[in-house]
Amino acid sequence: MTHPDDTYTADGFDWPHDSIVQHEVSHNFDADEGGWFKYEHPAECIMNYQWAYDGTNIWCSSCSGVVDNGIWS
Ligand SMILES: [Zn+2]
Ligand SMILES: [Zn+2]
Repeated sequence: MTHPDDTYTADGFDWPHDSIVQHEVSHNFDADEGGWFKYEHPAECIMNYQWAYDGTNIWCSSCSGVVDNGIWS
């Protein structure tokens, strides 16, 4: 069952809520903005807006390294 509150609008994008949270939390762990469009960040990665909009929930190897450092440092 779909509830209207399952999606939130951020910066004009209707993202899956879990993706917004994962993206924003990643910034808290020093991950950089991955750009708006996939050509700016070809590796599938939640730090890129277009990938996140498509519902990915993974980091590319580069960003996951940064997040891991942020979590464990
Ligand atoms: Zn961001
Ligand atoms: Zn990345």
